[in-house]
Amino acid sequence: MRIFDPHIHMSARTTDDYVAMYESGVRAVVEPSFWLGQPRTSVGSFVDYFDGLIGWERFRAAQYGIRHHCTIGLNPKEANDPRCREVLAVLPRYLAKDGVVAVGELGYDSMTPEEDEVFVAQLDLARDVGLPAVVHTPHRDKAAGTTRTLDVVRDSGIGSERVVVDHLNETTVAEVADSGCWMGFSIYPHTKMDEHRMVAILREYGTERMLVNSAADWGQSDPLKTRRTAEAMLGAGFTEHDVDVVLWQNPVAFYGQSGRLHLDPVPGFVVHEPLAPTTFEGNSVLRGARV
Ligand SMILES: [Zn+2]
Repeated sequence: MRIFDPHIHMSARTTDDYVAMYESGVRAVVEPSFWLGQPRTSVGSFVDYFDGLIGWERFRAAQYGIRHHCTIGLNPKEANDPRCREVLAVLPRYLAKDGVVAVGELGYDSMTPEEDEVFVAQLDLARDVGLPAVVHTPHRDKAAGTTRTLDVVRDSGIGSERVVVDHLNETTVAEVADSGCWMGFSIYPHTKMDEHRMVAILREYGTERMLVNSAADWGQSDPLKTRRTAEAMLGAGFTEHDVDVVLWQNPVAFYGQSGRLHLDPVPGFVVHEPLAPTTFEGNSVLRGARV
């Protein structure tokens, strides 16, 4: 089974997670840039974080046999801080880089006028540079937030086929299905969505334009929820082909619109073999190892 997790925050995860993900079939991931929990206070904090996503984390994932890509954007929560909004000026430079496959995560947190402005500006940017957009739906007021999100996407003129509206559930899926946007579902251990509810949604809406992710980050989350969803699908009578469509072909089709996916196996990677002595800017993941 091959799995592509289209939304996971690996820089908040351990190397054990990479090992377990590889063993579960995960071969590619997309890491959307997001809020770090601790508020940022300057653009420099974003710049170092973006550099980490396109550089170090990509290198680290490859050491575990996994292809890493990222999305770059100003997240909804920090769109409200004028010190953070200055990052909008540096985004075009990052959106030109290899390994950046979309603009995101964008969207609403509290639906403030500042969030509106930043959301629209970044959808315009995505349209202008020809990248897809990853749009998060708010955790509070989800139904109203989803409706408003779809209105903004429609008004922006970006093609709906280039947008994924993420963190959906039973109450928001129908509207997004009708909009022509891709539908993203984050499968969590205790909240939001679980794999069995996901299977019920796939039964009702089919597998087209469906993206399933773990959205694993620094909170309570599980990077193997993509695999658990695949198993739940098979247990419920979906075929291996259906599983491959949802957990591999769909993310490849969506992010493939960037023209920047790297999906060939990592050269020289062999499971359980010592890592090749490579470094990123002089730094190895093997702390203390001679390189
Ligand atoms: Zn996220």
